[in-house]
Amino acid sequence: MSPADVSEPTDVPEPTDVPGPSDFSGSTEIAAVRAFWQDLRLQGLFDVHTHFMPKNVMDKVWAYFDGAGPLTGMAWPITYRHDEDVRLNTLRQFGVRGFTSMIYPHKPDMAAWLDSWGTQFAQRTPDCVHTATFYPEESAATYVPAALAEGARIFKSHIQVGNYSPNDPLLDPVWGIIEDASVPVVIHCGSGPSPGTHTGPGPIAELLARFPRLPLIIAHMGMPEYQAFLELAERYPDVRLDTTMAFTDFAEASWPFPPAEKPRLLDLQDRILFGSDFPNIPYSYLDALTAVQRLDLGDDWVRDVCYHNGTRLFAR
Ligand SMILES: [Zn+2]
Repeated sequence: MSPADVSEPTDVPEPTDVPGPSDFSGSTEIAAVRAFWQDLRLQGLFDVHTHFMPKNVMDKVWAYFDGAGPLTGMAWPITYRHDEDVRLNTLRQFGVRGFTSMIYPHKPDMAAWLDSWGTQFAQRTPDCVHTATFYPEESAATYVPAALAEGARIFKSHIQVGNYSPNDPLLDPVWGIIEDASVPVVIHCGSGPSPGTHTGPGPIAELLARFPRLPLIIAHMGMPEYQAFLELAERYPDVRLDTTMAFTDFAEASWPFPPAEKPRLLDLQDRILFGSDFPNIPYSYLDALTAVQRLDLGDDWVRDVCYHNGTRLFAR
């Protein structure tokens, strides 16, 4: 993969130009993250899976993770539990040149409101890829094309939290519109960290059989059903995967990636994208990067995954 064919984003501020609140004291981590991409001779990082959302929604997500410890026996302290401006400044200081605002509804009549927030957020955040979402409901056939007209360039679908089937007939017009527009959808559809009624590779295989050009980005590498989702990516050339949480010590402890499948990651070098789940991770951003690097698939692979694939996908 030669970086020559990549149109690099030019309108993102250099970290030193970003006026930021001073209460983020992670200067050691900032230096280490910047050394990570500088050592690879990259111009920064591209993170396809970050969460920015309306404050009251983010507060609820954080409350959920606070309660997840007692429920699952797994503590989930949020590492970057800061105000929005601090979080944005943190990503920029890390050298993240492009990121997303993964929003997702857990009930009807919420997605259109989230989408209008996403539009406003993208307008005031030029380095964020304009993100939208949907839910199986009649109005989706109207607000999804409206979001595209507003400039949405990526969607998020959360099968476990939304508790819907991707094959719900109410979504048929949505998938058709998105397939025609060729706009990627980050879809949390694996059964990890928590399974849902409709999670797993089966429903996605059925969806792709009906919409074979759908540009899905399988979140978390499809954890824990890694093999079945790799198979779908191999069968459908528009399917990609994001590394979010995968390969970290935290994920490996419960849902280890099978080492025998590593050569398949190399074959899919141009369709695997770095994602972090920032800020809602129980470890550091550097840990997420190190987890990708220590797969030992070569610097060229890491360069594509952590930067070039994302910039290429979202190049204007
Ligand atoms: Zn996420």
